[in-house]
This record gives sequence, C-alpha cells and structure tokens, in this order.
Amino acid sequence: MPNTAAAPTAFWLAGREATGETTFDVTSPWDGRLVGTVSVPTEAQVEEAVAASVAVQDELAATPAHVRAAALDHVVRGLVERTEEIAQLISAENGKPIKWARGEVGRAVSVFRFAAEEARRFNGGEAQRLDTDAGGAGRLALTRRFPRGTVLGIAPFNFPLNLCAHKIAPAIAAGVPIILKPAPATPLSGLIIGELLAGTDLPAGSWSILPVPNDRMEALVQDERLPVISFTGSDTVGYAILDSVPRKHCTLELGGNGAAVVLPDWSSEQDLDWAAQRIATFSNYQGGQSCISVQRVIADASVYDRLVAKVVERVEAQVTGDPTDPATEVGPLVSEAAAQRVESWVDDAVERGARLLTGGKRDGASYAPTVLENVPAGATLATEEVFGPVLTLQKVDGVDAAFAAVNDSKFGLQAGVFTHDARTAFRAHRALEVGGVVIGDVPSYRADQMPYGGVKQSGVGREGVRYAMDDYTYERVLILTGL
Ligand code: NAD
Repeated sequence: MPNTAAAPTAFWLAGREATGETTFDVTSPWDGRLVGTVSVPTEAQVEEAVAASVAVQDELAATPAHVRAAALDHVVRGLVERTEEIAQLISAENGKPIKWARGEVGRAVSVFRFAAEEARRFNGGEAQRLDTDAGGAGRLALTRRFPRGTVLGIAPFNFPLNLCAHKIAPAIAAGVPIILKPAPATPLSGLIIGELLAGTDLPAGSWSILPVPNDRMEALVQDERLPVISFTGSDTVGYAILDSVPRKHCTLELGGNGAAVVLPDWSSEQDLDWAAQRIATFSNYQGGQSCISVQRVIADASVYDRLVAKVVERVEAQVTGDPTDPATEVGPLVSEAAAQRVESWVDDAVERGARLLTGGKRDGASYAPTVLENVPAGATLATEEVFGPVLTLQKVDGVDAAFAAVNDSKFGLQAGVFTHDARTAFRAHRALEVGGVVIGDVPSYRADQMPYGGVKQSGVGREGVRYAMDDYTYERVLILTGL
C-alpha cells in the first residue's frame, strides 16, 4: 500500500525500487484525502532506466519463454492474493466505485494470464518452400518475430491498473523491454505492478515504471532508443505524440463516443428492459469515464418512446455517491475540473435547444447521471467525447438511418447493436466504421484477449495481448538456400 506518512512510494527503475529528489501527492477525487505521495524520478534516473532497457535487450530476448511465462504467472498470483487491497487503492486514487474497481483487478488478472499463455506459444512463425516460383527453387523460408526495441508505454487514469497491464504484460510475454508511465492522477495502481514483478527472475532492466511528469515526457517521446510508443489516452495528446515522431512505431488507443443502437426487432418488454438496464449502467459506470461508455443511444422510432421511459427510470435509479460503498455504481469524476467541463457541455447543449430528461447537476467532482434528447449538431456534446455520465438520445427510422447515425462521428471505437437478426448482425459488422461491434449489448464490453482499438480519430493500431506482442515485434524472414 502507498505511504501516506513520511516516506513516499518508490518508483521502479530497471526492476528495483528507487526514489528521486521530488514528490507529488495523490488525492481522492471523492473527499480530497491524501491517498499517497509518489517519488518522481530525476532526469539521471530516467536515463539510467532507458540505458538499462537497451543494455538488456539481448539477454531478455534470450530469456526462455518458460521463465517469462512464470514471471507473468507470478503476477497473476499476486493480483489474486491482493485483489481487495489493490481494488481499494484503485478506488481511492481514481474515485471508481469499489464494485468496478474489483472488476478491474479481475480483468488485469486475465490480461496477465492471457500473456502467460501467449508467452508459451509466441514466435511460432511459418516455414515455406519457395519453389513455387522459379527463382526460389531449392530455397526454404522461415519467419520469426524479433523485438523492435524498448517500448515506451503511456497509460491513462481511467483503468489505472488494467491499462498498465495491457502495456507491460505483452512486453514481458514477447521478451521486449518496456518503460511504463502511469497517469499522474492515478500512479499508485500502476506502481503496484512493480511490487508483483519484483519477485520474478526477469533480467534487471527489462521493465521500469516511472511516474515522469507530463512536462518532461517530450524527452522520452523523442528518444530514439525507444522506437515503439504504445499510448492510451486522449486524442489531443495521442496525435500530438504521433505528429512529433512520425517515424516511430506508434499505437494510439484514443477516445470514442460509443453508440448503442436499438433496432425495430428489439421490441418486447423484456428486450427493452435489458437494453435500458445495460444502457443506464454503461453510460454511467465509473462516472462515464470509459472510452467505450455509451454516450449515444440511437433508437428506431418504433421503440423510441418506450425505451426512453425505461432508460430514464433506470438512470434515475443508479446509486451515486461514496465509491467505498459496495452499492455505489456512479462515483465522482477524476477531478472537479473534469466535472465542470461536463457541466459546461451539458449547459451549452441545453442552451442550444437540447431537452434535459434527467440529471444536469454537479456537486464538486460529482456529476449526476444525465440524459438528453434533441441535442443540436452544433453542440460540443454531439461531436466530442464527453467522458462523463451523460447520454444523448436520437430517434431514427430504420436500420440504414441507424447505422448512418453511428458513422456520423469523428470517432470509431466500438458500437453496440440490439438486434435478434443474424443478417442484421453481419450487416452491422460490415457497415459500422468502428474497431468492434457488440451484438445484443452495449459497446462497453472489451474482450482483453481480442484486438482492440479504433478507426478515424479513435486511434491507430490494435492492442489486446497477442496483438500488442505483434506490435512490439516485427517479422524477419530467414531464407535457406541449396536445399
Ligand atoms: P490524457 O491524454 O490526458 O493522458 C494520457 C497519458 O498521457 C497520461 O499518462 C498522461 O500523463 C500522458 N501525457 C500527457 N501529456 C503528455 C505528453 N505531452 N507527452 C507524453 N505523455 C503525455 O488522457 P487521460 O485523461 O488520462 O485519459 C482519458 C482518455 O483516454 C480518454 O480520451 C479516453 O477515451 C482515452 N482512453 C482510451 C482507451 C482505449 O483503449 N481506446 C482506453 C481508456 C481511455
């Protein structure tokens, strides 16, 4: 657990604990209490971590898969044993309700478990005779994947454990060194992974977890010894990084304004009850601060009124408040400034003619679960990622109009489609400009072992354990001649 007294929480430099010369405080967005004080690495310490990651590359690549898999298994055991403590930590620094924080630890367990499995079967390339072509007679080609070099992983605040897990677990599985930087509001959940990795046999230098301040990140982003950047966060920061290092291999997992589509065949009472419950829960869970939260509901006119009544009823029934209470579903946002921004966007939409059906109130960092309809196209709420507990409702006629409305967005991360019809499901898969389509549910389900990422301004490249391993490595062909 973090130190709330004198000694600050250490960071992890080349696999061992270290402290720097300065610290910063981590406070709870719920009640402002001090959750921990974190030590900041000096420039010399950051340099030491980068140099160690370069120096260890060959040794790590030669570290047998069973050793890397065992290290990942060790983290799985640690996360399982310490689930409650880690969930409490996530909840304290992020403001996430404890029930969702426990769920996040469970997902991180899965990510490390998937990574251990992938470590055991990775690098099984292919072998091909090349004599299908005249010039290839007597030749055989083999492929294997090799590390691109040290990965710089940059994680956001909203899943402070699991999104750090998504950076570091695939690196260990693929035998690639990583420098991981957690978010400044929530560094403790990422740093705890260091405690779990410290007891493993990975060579020193394989991994560092460094809470480097944003204003010192430029040097790391530009550092040519870090050829891969795996970034999860806002589109503003993500694209600024990509633009500044266009020759680096960058994966950007950015924002979205996820849509849930309710089609005419999803019309029984039971259907609409399920859709309304899922929409209410996943537009508000952890204050709407998930990149695949439901921000937009696009419903066919034939079911719209009945659905809206049910959604509003369920949104009003959401339990808000103290994140430590197991009954709480919606806690505070990450900061009062974040809640003020959400408030200003909702107020702007209402001033432009949107109809507020429920919510629209702020109390400090907390914002009440809010539903609006008739949001005009010019409102920020209609086009940007709200990243708060706010839902907008849109009435459409027919499947084509519904899918066109989903695609009428600069983002394209995931979409949910409530339909029973298999042909419509495949049509959605073809037509929707997103990285993932969820049938029969909201867009807010991420399968941690599957490719995950967006199109348009939702990002570049894919995460998901094996896909990240591919991303951190590249295929090199070996051609044998005279066979
Ligand atoms: P953010 O962009 O503010 O910060 C993300 C990370 O970038 C943090 O670690 C931050 O310290 C770091 N950072 C900030 N400025 C930097 C700079 N100049 N150089 C390098 N690093 C810098 O995002 P956030 O507020 O922490 O997270 C919320 C955003 O993340 C939302 O837009 C959300 O949709 C997105 N997100 C996307 C996914 C996904 O997988 N697509 C998942 C979760 C969150």
